Amino acid sequence: MPDIRSPGSMPCSAMLCHPAETVQLRSGGAMLAEGVRARDKEVAVKRRRGHKAVLELTSEQVTVLDQQGHAARAMWNLLHDWWTMAGTCPQRRASPTLADQHIRRARRELPWLADLPAQAAQQVLQAYFQAWKNCWEGRAAAPAFKSRIRSRMSVDVPQARDLHIKRLTRRWGQVRIPKVGLVRFRWTKDLPGTTRSAPPGRVTGARLVRETHGWHIVFRTEVLTEAPLPHLGPGVGIDLGIAKPLALSDGTFREHASWATPGERARMTRLERKAARQRQARKPGAPASRRLTRTYDQIARYRATAKRRTTDWQHRTTTELADTFGVIGMEDLAISNMIKSARGAVDAPGHRVRQKAGLNRAITAEAWARTSAFLTYKLEQRGGHLIKVPAMNTSRRCHVCGLTTPGGRESQARFACKNPLCGWSGNADTNAACNIQFLTQQRAPQDIEGARTWSPSHQAGNEASTTLDSHPQAQGISWPRPERMSK
Ligand SMILES: [Zn+2]
Repeated sequence: MPDIRSPGSMPCSAMLCHPAETVQLRSGGAMLAEGVRARDKEVAVKRRRGHKAVLELTSEQVTVLDQQGHAARAMWNLLHDWWTMAGTCPQRRASPTLADQHIRRARRELPWLADLPAQAAQQVLQAYFQAWKNCWEGRAAAPAFKSRIRSRMSVDVPQARDLHIKRLTRRWGQVRIPKVGLVRFRWTKDLPGTTRSAPPGRVTGARLVRETHGWHIVFRTEVLTEAPLPHLGPGVGIDLGIAKPLALSDGTFREHASWATPGERARMTRLERKAARQRQARKPGAPASRRLTRTYDQIARYRATAKRRTTDWQHRTTTELADTFGVIGMEDLAISNMIKSARGAVDAPGHRVRQKAGLNRAITAEAWARTSAFLTYKLEQRGGHLIKVPAMNTSRRCHVCGLTTPGGRESQARFACKNPLCGWSGNADTNAACNIQFLTQQRAPQDIEGARTWSPSHQAGNEASTTLDSHPQAQGISWPRPERMSK
């Protein structure tokens, strides 16, 4: 699961979004005349996003970018070494100005460090200080050395005027990359301010990132839009699962095929066995051989393909959900706690360790945090809301009578209420989604326009029939506790 907080591991364009900034464009007497609607229109929202595109590079250009990427990583490591050394040496005091002077001097004296354009080198310094700021403010761990193997290579192009973005054909655009030249990139979206049909706004910079599938460019965009009107769509509760990835409280599901084809899975197993064999041949402490590295690269390509399919499905599904529903309720899951290993300690070994590892992999493959992150910004963009509710007992409680009776969850898929007065039975995930919907109604702030139209039981004279209207808690009826009923 990618950590969306760390700046080096943002996997896709949507993860790069910044919280929208609200800008008051005009204020004064005109606002009073038209009422609320008019006031909403005068508030423009500056929306910052990232847009990632594939670069079409020749092998020489790839070599140049690789050199730049390695120089940027080396610059970071040298900076980190120098900065952390300064703390242990009382005569020397590190400061951003001094760091800047050293970087300028190093670029003059070391030709391989000068491969990195001056602007990109400055950006490494900025990113390094930002990493410390994130650490001190509790958002991320302390910055560390970047490993050649594990870190993702990236080079910054901070100034948009260097980019000279141009659209060539329907499918291709052109961008100027420092020290590389003009490069074509895949045009999948109108970048703000570049063409006549593009939305108003501008590109503020870019970053080149090396993914498993090659170099990509991430444009930083800033679009000026009107503040969204309240989303009037209905509300829904969503249960996250594995057998059914998304179960909705309206009884529908959002499903996907396996992320890898059977052939791909077989090839991956074969490659993993091959890597294990090659690892065994390695002497202790020796670096990985070229053959082993090549096998690792092949495995990484299959995994990256599977991840792209996941992200694509998540984007399409969350866009559809955010278009349809105004308020979406979801469980507030502590995912990192859910995927802890069952291995235990040497003196107290855990049981069913392999099964738990398989479950952990299945949870990780669903990437629930990314679904929730996509929904958060997509709903916000459309005037909708995502409400997180406590996950406790949502899959064990019956959504019709509100009781948690033992043995209700008959199997993975089926839920049958054991309350003799109720006896509801159906899909277990739908039941959980209905419970989440009920909790969302309780939690959703009443000033949400969508929530008010959606929670008819709270309004007099509006008896719309939803399954939750018959919920005893919604009608203020308190049912006996299950333990008392069994006596
Ligand atoms: Zn029941």
